[in-house]
Formats: sequence, C-alpha cells, structure tokens
Amino acid sequence: MIGDRHLIPLSPEIFNDFACPECGYPRPAGVKVMVLGKQTAAEYKCTNCGLAFVRDLPAGFSIDLPLAWRLKDKHPYHPAHGMAEDWPAYPDYQVPSHDRYYARREVFRECKRIVLLNTIDHLYGHVLLKLFNAQHYLDRHPDIGLVVMVPKMFEWLVPDGVAEKWVFDIKLKQAWGWNAGIDSFVQEQWDRYEEVYLAPAYGHPAFTKIDVHRFSRVEPFALPDYLRKPAHITFIARRDRLWYPSPWSKLAHRVMKRLGLFPGLAVRRQDQLVARTMELVRKEIPDATFTVVGLSEPGGMPNGVEDLRTMNIDLDVEKAWCRAYARSQVVVGVHGSNMLLPTAHAAGCVEILPYDRYGNMVQDIAVRHNDRMQLFLYRFVDEFATPKAVARHVAGMFKDFRVYELNMKTNTF
Ligand SMILES: [Zn+2]
Repeated sequence: MIGDRHLIPLSPEIFNDFACPECGYPRPAGVKVMVLGKQTAAEYKCTNCGLAFVRDLPAGFSIDLPLAWRLKDKHPYHPAHGMAEDWPAYPDYQVPSHDRYYARREVFRECKRIVLLNTIDHLYGHVLLKLFNAQHYLDRHPDIGLVVMVPKMFEWLVPDGVAEKWVFDIKLKQAWGWNAGIDSFVQEQWDRYEEVYLAPAYGHPAFTKIDVHRFSRVEPFALPDYLRKPAHITFIARRDRLWYPSPWSKLAHRVMKRLGLFPGLAVRRQDQLVARTMELVRKEIPDATFTVVGLSEPGGMPNGVEDLRTMNIDLDVEKAWCRAYARSQVVVGVHGSNMLLPTAHAAGCVEILPYDRYGNMVQDIAVRHNDRMQLFLYRFVDEFATPKAVARHVAGMFKDFRVYELNMKTNTF
C-alpha cells in the first residue's frame, strides 16, 4: 500500500502505526474498520497482551487526539500528549442507532483502489471543511477513485470527477452518536475494492489552493475586477448568532431568551445595525448595492436592498446566495461557519468577532489571497462594533484599494 500520510490504509491492511494503549507493544493487529458517523475508527487486537480495543483513525477533528477504548467495557485510553474527548461515554454512543438514513451509492467510475472521504459531521462548517479536501485527491491521485461520504444537504457541493458518492439523508444533529446503520452500509461495500484508504479530512484546508467553483459551480469574485465591477456588499444576518450593539444588550437578550420573552427583539436590533451600516456606506459610496442573506425572516432593510433571507433553504436559495457572494467585493457577518461559503466566493470580508471566538479566529474564513492583500481584505472588528466602525472598514476597502494594491502587490519584486 502507498506510504503517504494523506492516505491512511484501511484495506487490505489497517493503519496500525501506534502502540498498544495497555502494554505499549508496537503495531497492534487491525481487525476491522468501523465508520461510526463522524468518527472513523478501527478495532484492534494487541499481539502481545491480547487487549481488544477500538481506536480513532487519525482523521477529522480528532486527528491529533485519538481516543482508544477497551472493547469489553469502553474503558478509555487517552493519548500520552493530552486528554481526548471521551465520546464513547456519551449516551448517544452507548446505544448504537441502526437507522440507514436512506443511504444511496452513486457510481461514476468503477475503481478497485479507492480513497474514502468521510465528511459526515454534526457541525455544518465541519462537513464543508472536510469536503474541500476532495480537490487534493482528484488532482494528486487520479489513479485512486475518490469516494465521498456526504450528508444529503451537502450533495450539491460534491465536485465532478469523484468515482462514487455515498449520500446519507441525515440531519446534522443525527451525525452525533454511534450510527451502526451507516457502518453496516459501509461494510456492505467493503469487498468491492482491493485497496481502500481513508482521507484524513483535514479541518482547515488551505483555501488559496482551492477552486471553489468546482464545488459550488459558481465562479468566485476575480480580484482584477475589484474596481471594475460595481461596488457590491453582502451581509450575512442569521438569527442564531447575532451582532449586538453593546454588552448590556447581549446580556439582556440571553436573559430574555431564557425567560421566553420578546424572541424577535434582538434579531430586529441586528437588522437595524445592518440597515444603518448600509446607509453609512452609501454616504461614502453612493452607487454601492447590497444583498442580505441568512436563515431569517426577510424585511426591515433600506430601499433597493436585495433581501434573500428565508427560513426555507433549498438548492435554489443556496445557489442564489453563492451568486450574491461572488458579486461582492466585501461580505459582512458575525464569526461562524456561515462565513465559509461567503468568503470562498467574495474578494474580502469584515467579520464581527465575539470575544469568546478569538481562539477560533480565521477558522471560518476561506482565505483566498496569499500575499499582503490578506491584511487588507480580511478585517475583524470588535464584538460590539458600531455600524459606523463597520461602515468605515467597508468604505475603506473600496477607497484605499487602488493605492494599497499598487504599493503592496504591484510595485515590488
Ligand atoms: Zn498490549
């Protein structure tokens, strides 16, 4: 099998480049692969002490902290360098679910050697980030068929060129837990192939190398068009992660939410902040046009604003939102996975970054530029930034662009 750290062997050999968690004897014998949902693990038996255990394969968001657990009683073994998440102890992992989620296998090219990219996850952004790993295998390993395991709501983003897609009609929250039904589906396919690898599905792919058009089929904003195209700004305004005008309003919203009072008040307040920002940008750039998107009720925007918000997201909505991002020099929104597709298609962003997300900075930004344009085009503002502060950044990203680009990109070696 190929010795490449981006291809984890699953069949005929199972990855075993580690020591027994009980006695430390190297290279336990692989018994079988288990796809539990978001976790891809394998069962092993130590050739020295006989311990039978299951261990995370080095993939997905637990890549650096694989957990092992004893088969007979789920006793956990943490890696030497830190505590792993003890997921087998959670109730949803104690009793496996046998739902098959209307699994569908679609074959585009019969391959005997495959690499499996498991994008199943209970977090929207995690599925998306894992899916972007597909490009590496399509371009670098054309001789190995790429098989993408994907929740149905992300099927539209599967790129052309994959050998197969395995689509599961699974809701995000159902991906949390031990899905024995998904594992059974995978086991039924196993003997079709001579060689199977697992893609590590890195959580933070380098976006400067990713061609998002291959996923969304929407051409992203081309930087040379920045000043040639009409100034367009798209706001991402969702209900579940809000832009607050002050610490007090955030606290008040949390208290009222707990009490079930005035549920729409904070959302309306956010709409006012967005609308006010648009008005202030218009003062500086009179021709600027705006779109607002997000999982929310439409309404409350200034005249002339394209309001694409809805509570019913379907493929047409997803595509229309992507086209809006791709027309935008700047997208504006609160930190979160909802910023991934916008920044993957727009030229730049202004992001409102809550204090408790500083450790997650840029994880939600598809950074498209690999030079000093990064600092100009990706801007982060305070959690309680005023519309004036946000509008100042947005307007500056148009007014200062020509000179900045000239100095930092053109007049240099
Ligand atoms: Zn052992």
